[in-house]
Amino acid sequence: MSTYHDEGVVLTTAKLGEADRIITMLTKEHGKIRAVARGVRRSKSRFGARLEPFMRSDVLISQGRNLDRISQAASIASYADAICGDFDLYANGSVILETMNKLVNTEHESATEQYMLLVSALASLSRHRHDPHMISASYVMRSLALAGWLPRFDSCVVCGRSDGLEFFSVPAGGTMCVNDRTPEARGMTTQCRTQLKALVEGNWKLLDEASLQRCESEGEGDARTGSSRPNPDGDAQCARIVEEWGEYYLERPLRSLRLLDS
Ligand SMILES: [Zn+2]
Repeated sequence: MSTYHDEGVVLTTAKLGEADRIITMLTKEHGKIRAVARGVRRSKSRFGARLEPFMRSDVLISQGRNLDRISQAASIASYADAICGDFDLYANGSVILETMNKLVNTEHESATEQYMLLVSALASLSRHRHDPHMISASYVMRSLALAGWLPRFDSCVVCGRSDGLEFFSVPAGGTMCVNDRTPEARGMTTQCRTQLKALVEGNWKLLDEASLQRCESEGEGDARTGSSRPNPDGDAQCARIVEEWGEYYLERPLRSLRLLDS
């Protein structure tokens, strides 16, 4: 039986039989893999603790006829400790893992750039480096862009003009001018367009400043619109477009994003 060695992040686990689990991981060199980990559901399995979601571990894998088997695992980074201990981090971390799991369908196909993006998103989430919602939103937009779905922000997707870009169409792939807007296109403020662009580019300087301003204005309410939600335009609009973009191009709903809304 041939074996291989790699590092990976655990995306999901599923029970198998009495004491085993099937582990789905994104690995650095071998792409997405599914493999059995034997005996990990027995209490005090240290091997099992290294194969929980959000764990980044070094693994030794034996190739089987049907399913591969993980025979050794050593922890590289335990993002799980910080992420699972905080509801907001956990909810946004779940969006990241679910997006990754749905984005890559084929197993054993190298996706090293996606792996590096995943690792950096989980690392900054576990260290609370930025607003958790911004980290997961940026991850959704960047992982999809890396897979080929990069939205256009600087010109109209129909006529190419760069002014009056007041709408955004998810199916058409970007911004639209007033003349060309299609019925499903959503209105988009300049603030929302700037923020979405920053999410795709990973422009944390801009995103951190926006988060700070949001915190400072919290509690002031919103007398202008009479809405009970503070600042309903930019942020909510941006979050809705990220959610639609993810679901449209992954061709299925992102359950964990829906949970963030509720
Ligand atoms: Zn146009």
